[in-house]
Amino acid sequence: MRVLFATSEIYPLVKTGGLADVAAGLTTALQQQNHEVTVILPAYQEAMRHLDSICELAHFSIHCCSTEYNVRLLRADSDSGVTLLLVDIPGLFDRPGNPYLAEDGTDWWDNGERFGLFSRIAAGVALNQYGLGWRPDVVHCNDWQTGLLPAFMRLLNTDAGSSSETDVDVRLGLPRTIFTVHNLSYAGKFSHALFAGLGLPDAWWSPEMLEFYGAFSMLKGGIVCADYVTTVSPTYAEEICTPPHGFGFEGLLRECAAQGRLSGILNGIDTQVWNPATDRYIPYTYSVQKGRVAQKERNKNHLLKTVVAADVKVDGSAPLLSFIGRMVEQKGIDLLIEAIPALLDETNVNIVILGSGQKNYEHEILNLARLHPHRVFVHIGYSEELAHLIEAGADIFLMPSRFEPCGLNQMYSLAYGTLPIVHATGGLKDTVIDASAENIATGTATGFVMLNASADELRRCCITALELYRKPRTWQKLQKTAMSQDFGWQRSATSYQNLYKA
Ligand code: ADP
Repeated sequence: MRVLFATSEIYPLVKTGGLADVAAGLTTALQQQNHEVTVILPAYQEAMRHLDSICELAHFSIHCCSTEYNVRLLRADSDSGVTLLLVDIPGLFDRPGNPYLAEDGTDWWDNGERFGLFSRIAAGVALNQYGLGWRPDVVHCNDWQTGLLPAFMRLLNTDAGSSSETDVDVRLGLPRTIFTVHNLSYAGKFSHALFAGLGLPDAWWSPEMLEFYGAFSMLKGGIVCADYVTTVSPTYAEEICTPPHGFGFEGLLRECAAQGRLSGILNGIDTQVWNPATDRYIPYTYSVQKGRVAQKERNKNHLLKTVVAADVKVDGSAPLLSFIGRMVEQKGIDLLIEAIPALLDETNVNIVILGSGQKNYEHEILNLARLHPHRVFVHIGYSEELAHLIEAGADIFLMPSRFEPCGLNQMYSLAYGTLPIVHATGGLKDTVIDASAENIATGTATGFVMLNASADELRRCCITALELYRKPRTWQKLQKTAMSQDFGWQRSATSYQNLYKA
């Protein structure tokens, strides 16, 4: 099958979060299953820096919001064999830094134009409008940045003169569209002026189509106009049909579910990149098979040397808790901040934290590190290398997310024998099995599950985990079960393949 995969980020070219990992992992796995996959993404400055041998396939100009933009479609090959198609609009994408945020941490002022136009052009590619001589069977879109793609496909196809957009014969000849929601809380909401500037029809400014509480939502465009909607775990697929996880889309999503147009497919992880037996970032590799899980202790020492200031004395034998991720309310970073003082009082744990996000949380975390320099170690920023070191060296990984569509870090943690403590939500619920007495006895337990997202429950769960940590044989059994789970991409890719075929 020919698949056009539209994404606003892909590892290793440009990454702000899980979507980049998913885009890379899923497209590689599909390619390995003999599908012909083309990834279409914006030609960000950052992405272009990683690429060589780029060739131009087409150039044209396009009108949007009273501006004429010059567009080039560029082709590059990736290491995985997946073809990359870059939409180069210098005025919109040739700028340094984060794909979504300006230097001061606020959204780029023209994100609506940027991703609206990107989606419009990707729709043109899907409909073979630029003379590339190629048309996909399936167009797979991801999150609000590509939400208008199915909408534009409908529009462009109607404009091109088909008798009716619901005419079955016409639609049979069209590529089918799948829209995957990786995080429903980002609706891609913009003004009526942009709606009009993008050339969307007046009739679509309605609650049945793209209007969303007085604005329009690009995410809604994907949900309404795609043939099928997926999200990234079975539990999240249920949760988004109810408030508060539905963020105002719950009614629409319930309708999708009733029409048999919504399901959840669990993400995989890249087992080449996230594998403690081969990880190039960690000094002491280990695996269950070779029985060298004790190497984690040596990785812990190395990690502590990396994150602790030279003149600070640390108890290296104490259990090490860890957190990696965006410092936003979704991830429950505020719950962790609230729980830390009591945890430090009541237990002998040390804590290592890597991430960035809302400035108030960054300040509070840094403050805790200043108050407890020998027990709380913080790195504000993004570091792939440190993320791997933490997974290898920490004992316990904390993910008290209020909601988590899928989550990747808990799966990395399982693979590295760093037992996760998670809130029972979304993909966390689908991937971590609580260390209850019964689950330990049956050999299925892999971590610790909090039923509520609260600081108190997080603290209690840490204390329960530490009780088991002090029983090495039970702990090692849990680690073994965790490390033996298969979260590779092949299983998820097969589910997507079946959906494409259907
Ligand atoms: P989300 O996509 O909501 O941010 P996920 O758990 O799905 O959360 O994916 C987050 C990805 O980003 C993981 O690969 C994680 O390791 C990585 N990550 C997040 N923050 C950082 C950071 N500060 N440094 C390195 N990697 C990070």
